[in-house]
Order: sequence, then structure tokens, then C-alpha cells
Amino acid sequence: MKYQGNIKKMTCDLSDTVEYVLPIGGERVSINQFIDKKVSFNYLHQINCIACGKKTNKSFGQGFCYTCFTQAPEASECVLQPDKCQAHLGISRDAEWAKQHCLVPHVVYLAVSSNIKIGITRKTQVPTRWIDQGASFAIIVAETPNRHIAGTIEKFLMQHYTDKTSWQGMLKGNVMETDLLAEKEKACQYLPAELKQYCTADNKITEINFPVNQFPAKVKSATFDKTDKVAGTLTGIKGQYLILDNTNVLNIRRHNGYLIEMDVTD
Ligand SMILES: [Zn+2]
Repeated sequence: MKYQGNIKKMTCDLSDTVEYVLPIGGERVSINQFIDKKVSFNYLHQINCIACGKKTNKSFGQGFCYTCFTQAPEASECVLQPDKCQAHLGISRDAEWAKQHCLVPHVVYLAVSSNIKIGITRKTQVPTRWIDQGASFAIIVAETPNRHIAGTIEKFLMQHYTDKTSWQGMLKGNVMETDLLAEKEKACQYLPAELKQYCTADNKITEINFPVNQFPAKVKSATFDKTDKVAGTLTGIKGQYLILDNTNVLNIRRHNGYLIEMDVTD
């Protein structure tokens, strides 16, 4: 089977095991079915901006041309630094976009992979965000009416928790042993009263299982910025990574907008 087109970040469904779909050109390819098959990706030396579609020599901020990176609302400063979001003050790159992405309910969460991390996302992005990060377990700590307050809580809790996932540890399948409920209670205790009010009573712990045959002992990151072809037997999918030959890992999200030919054989 052959597919060709610009790839985008995989979408996913939380079932017993996560079901992944890879958007490639106009097609949406269910990718779990290719586990144990030989897949090869050929980079066709073209990147199209995921916002405006124009060709760009280089990808900025995981998929944008330089113009969109500096102007498009989806590449706003508050995407990476939510506490700096000013949409609640009426300041944003695009008021309509901000209404739908910043001025909507957000959650602050703790997620566990090889480490425990703090993060925020729009409420509608649960559990997608957790799956994208390769988390094995996650719990909602707080729910807020907008991005700015969630970002402020996250910033506060970054004194106690990292906001980064260790991607190597995550891909090796290391899962830190921790009592998430106890951590949530601790996290809420750390918060000053004006932020503590957003802590939720919902203490559900979401467990996420990824389609991985066997976790690699070591991982090597492959990128189309350095090589034209990435190929091997697909041995697993976790986060936004495809694991090939139980060693080489390809971060799909990093290659948002790259024009690729994908070949699958038995
Ligand atoms: Zn663009």
C-alpha cells in the first residue's frame, strides 16, 4: 500500500489500547493495523505550512511558515506560555480564535510517564493531550474558565513539578510509580487560596495503554531534516512517535506539513 501527501499530527481515540490515525494528504490512515509490518517513509523535500498551506523551506513551531509563526493565532505566544495569555483582557492575535481557544474551560493536570509532569490543556482536548504526551496515567487537578488562569496555576506548580516529558524514558516504557491522588492533594495544598478554588472534586485517574509490542531498550530519533528515508518494521506507537525496529523513533508531530510518501508491505 502506498500513500502520498503532507502529514499531520496523528489523531487518536482512547480505547483499551489507543487507536491512532495518521492524516496524510486527504486520507486518514488507521495506523495500528500496520504494527508488525514493514513501513517506509520517503521525504519528498517539500514542507507546506499547516496554517496557510504555502511552501516553506523551513518549519517553525512544528509546522508553520515564518509569516504564520509570527502572525497566526495558533502560533501565539500563549500556546507555549499560557500564563501570558491576554485574551481575557481583550488582547490577542485574533479575537474569534481566542474566543474558541483561550476563553473556554481549561484543565490543569498531572500526568505520569517516566516522570510526573504538570500541564494544561483545553477541556475538550482531554484525553488527546495526554495521549500525545505518552502519559500512562493522568488526573485533572483544576478546572478554570480560561487559559490565563490555568497557565497561572501551572506556572505556580512548576516550582514543584516539571512541565516536560522525558521522551526517551517515555518511549522506553518506564512508568514512574506514584500515587496520583495524593499528588493532586499535595498540588492543591501548594496553591494560594485564590487559585485553590479551581481544584476539582473529580478524582478520576485515566489509564492509557499504547499499542507497543515491546519497549525499546534504547531509542534513536530519526528526522527528515537529516535523512530522506526512515524505514523498518513498525513495532509500536506511543505519544506522537512511531517506533521502528524497536529502536528508531519518528516524531510525527515534529514533521507537521512535510510531504511524505509512505509504503507499507508485509
Ligand atoms: Zn503559513
